[in-house]
Amino acid sequence: MKKILLGANYYPEDWDENLIDFDIENMKKCHFNVVRIAEFAWKKMEPSENEYSFDWLHKVVDKMHEAGIGVILGTPTATPPSWLYKKHPDIAMLSPTGVRTSHGGRRHCCSSNPIYREYSRKIVERMAEEFGSDPGVIGWQIDNEIYHWEPGCCCSYCMDNFHAWLREKYGSVEAINSAWNLNLFSQAYDEIEDIPAPFNAWHNPHIKLEWNLSQSNNHKSFVHMQAEIIKAHSAAPVGTDTMPVNGFDYRELNAPLDVAQFNHYDTDLTRPAMWMDYMRNFSKIPFWNTETQACWNGSTSPGHSLMGEGFVYMNTWLPVMLGGGGNLYWLWRTHWAGHELMHGAVMDTSGRFTYANGEIVKAAREFEQLEDILCATKVKSDTALMFSSLNWNIHKSQQISNAIPDDTGFVNEFYQKLLGAGIHPAVIDGREPLDDYKLLITPSAYSLEEGNLKERITRFVENGGVWVVGPLSDIRTSIGTKYKNSPYGFLEELTGAQLSYIIPHDDGSITLANEQGEELKGRGIFELFDDGDFEPLLSVADGHSALVGKHASFVKKVGQGYVIFLGTLPEDRELGRIFSKASELACAEIYKVSDGAMITKREGDGRTLYIAAALKGKACEWRTDGSWRNLVSGELVSGSISLAPYEIAVLERADAERIE
Ligand SMILES: [Zn+2]
Repeated sequence: MKKILLGANYYPEDWDENLIDFDIENMKKCHFNVVRIAEFAWKKMEPSENEYSFDWLHKVVDKMHEAGIGVILGTPTATPPSWLYKKHPDIAMLSPTGVRTSHGGRRHCCSSNPIYREYSRKIVERMAEEFGSDPGVIGWQIDNEIYHWEPGCCCSYCMDNFHAWLREKYGSVEAINSAWNLNLFSQAYDEIEDIPAPFNAWHNPHIKLEWNLSQSNNHKSFVHMQAEIIKAHSAAPVGTDTMPVNGFDYRELNAPLDVAQFNHYDTDLTRPAMWMDYMRNFSKIPFWNTETQACWNGSTSPGHSLMGEGFVYMNTWLPVMLGGGGNLYWLWRTHWAGHELMHGAVMDTSGRFTYANGEIVKAAREFEQLEDILCATKVKSDTALMFSSLNWNIHKSQQISNAIPDDTGFVNEFYQKLLGAGIHPAVIDGREPLDDYKLLITPSAYSLEEGNLKERITRFVENGGVWVVGPLSDIRTSIGTKYKNSPYGFLEELTGAQLSYIIPHDDGSITLANEQGEELKGRGIFELFDDGDFEPLLSVADGHSALVGKHASFVKKVGQGYVIFLGTLPEDRELGRIFSKASELACAEIYKVSDGAMITKREGDGRTLYIAAALKGKACEWRTDGSWRNLVSGELVSGSISLAPYEIAVLERADAERIE
């Protein structure tokens, strides 16, 4: 698809059908070229069992097509109709206390339930038959924001799937009893079928881990079932719109799909930026940001207040800047009754544009202006930050440190600090290849057992790569147990260094000193090493006498490359210094930026571009040299690039023009 998509979610089922001409006219004013429809309209498409109604939807798709607006069609399985629930109440999820979810919300049915699956298969097949060859349909969205809501479903089908998952992975109940140390608490089981869902008791973390993985797997197979049906009828790209939560394995989810679809309502744009850098890897075509606020979020109550001027413009650019193929707002026009009345939109219920419309149109015009070059180039980075579903799930199943900032472990915090240090990393799953990178950073990568990482990281370093081992990495097996012969899986073996202590600690009583003797604090965790054949970077200067002189960070040459171990989260300035050192050793790209700037590099078609963005809404600077052409304004800029709050500059070296 050689264009940047810009549009919104549209719910024609909300409105009188005559309003569509007014809506299309106004979408054109916004330069929109895409709408996403039908995701919750099962009842309208199948008013009663086996009675289908698609005329209304054909009219919408045809009208949009005539107006040059493509349609991404959603399958409605997140919201089964009331007749289905009435006939088969057991399709609803079952809580650990035995209560079925009632009808009225969405994603309240069990993705493992064979009856729900059969009805889902039928409606998806009918939709695919109706619209599979429709030129107005440019893409498909399966379900909506699928993941297992905490705590998941405990129905008999989910329990059967859980036990089958365990049998497939471990082979026998004896193997499970042994692998999870179930002699403890008299917990050993006689049969796999005796293993409970991990609720209503103080449960073993390994059961919790496997439960989460198994529930994730149930939803994944539900999505894949729908993808297979659609692909049999349609050549348009298929994806499922995701909100990255709850440890879902987004890599496996997206494996047979064409386009990763991502939803976010963040106001701190470094957070969705990290997720977009992650989801980009899983998409065969540039990913779509399928939902974001056009002004503010407000599902059940107003979620945000007025955003700073330029925020909506920056948020519109964000996915495109990070290699995505488009952005869609949620939603076009605020609902007039029913759910999510407090949400902001492009247009209010009475058909008036909301305050940020000017910012939307500004971004739209720039996309049109730069479409060719944006579509011809891809985001490149030679630094990789590792994040994986496995470690996300280990984090969720055992609280290894109380000072870890959020659900992703240290990964999001490291991502933000890397941007602050002038490094824009790719965010890669543990199973992705390392070949494209010079610098690898693994914060809270509790387990490095997936995807043959031990061998791959060792080879990466020996061949000249630099590995920054962030706090709490390599300390768990792939099922969340500890190693018995070393605190680490292979870190000591690789570096020859010996750990003294791992201490969860956050009261500030430990003082560190860097190699220049400057004192600073660390937080969250202290992994402290004895003296060894390495160059210490951070050592304990003051605190408990048993710790003084131990090393919380060091650098060690291994083969042609380096391992930089970082066993705590130091103050920002020091962390930035360590990132700079790592980047220098790796000969990786690092930009001299002031806080708030994000620089992304793109390559393709023999050209190299940089997009500089004042991401945090404050004026900032990229200290660079030479002359640049700003492709938006056409102006020539020499030396440093100054950015006003939320400004974006798309830059290409102008020096090269002269050379050519
Ligand atoms: Zn279930």
